[in-house]
Amino acid sequence: MRGKLVVGNWKMNGGLASNAALLEALTTGWRAEPGRAVAVCVPFPYLAQAQAMLAGTAVAWGAQNASEHRSGAHTGEVSASMVAEFGCRYAIVGHSERRQLYAETSAGVAAKALAVLAAAMTPIVCVGETLAQREAGATNDVVLGQLEAVLAAVGEAAARLVVAYEPVWAIGTGRTATPDEAQAVHALLRARLAQAGAAEISLLYGGSVKADNAGALFAMKDIDGGLIGGASLQAGDFLAIGRA
Ligand code: PEP
Repeated sequence: MRGKLVVGNWKMNGGLASNAALLEALTTGWRAEPGRAVAVCVPFPYLAQAQAMLAGTAVAWGAQNASEHRSGAHTGEVSASMVAEFGCRYAIVGHSERRQLYAETSAGVAAKALAVLAAAMTPIVCVGETLAQREAGATNDVVLGQLEAVLAAVGEAAARLVVAYEPVWAIGTGRTATPDEAQAVHALLRARLAQAGAAEISLLYGGSVKADNAGALFAMKDIDGGLIGGASLQAGDFLAIGRA
């Protein structure tokens, strides 16, 4: 269901003590508001801590990945049902760091989205083009292709997705898409999602979102919030983005 949503992606950062301080600050600083939600996606080992500290608060939590496999001989992998046991509402799938550094394919991302749905969680499906692809004028084809793989796999469950447009050239670089650049891609994604019966899902923008640029991005018609990396590690910054 379409609503304002800001999700922190901690990536491979944190520790028990620093997490406790950050989560405490988030629960103290964030009050539930209709139509506005915040969540943090933490490393697997900290899911129990997130559950213990966030259950009953207005801050939801999730994982940053989940296996496409249900169980079995997949040493080192973590299944969606395992993640769900820790009360997760969300699992990110297809983050560009996983596509680039761990060779995840669009077909694999689609299988992960299905596994997350089967575990009754919401997949946050990331799509986005590299700088070379943007400069070659291939942005639309790339993001639609990545989305298409997931839509083909999940069918009517498309209405249960969250999709995050994250231009790879904007992630962790300090260079963000302009609101107009981001809106253009969001409108394209929304149009395709509408054909799949999923016009009313939340579409997030990610890529160097900070407290001082979040308002302008989130004011755009088809941008419903953000997936936030670096700025989600500072409670004050993340809360300010949530309020934007
Ligand atoms: C991300 O990790 O998804 C992200 C958008 O990172 P950053 O906000 O640091 O660019």
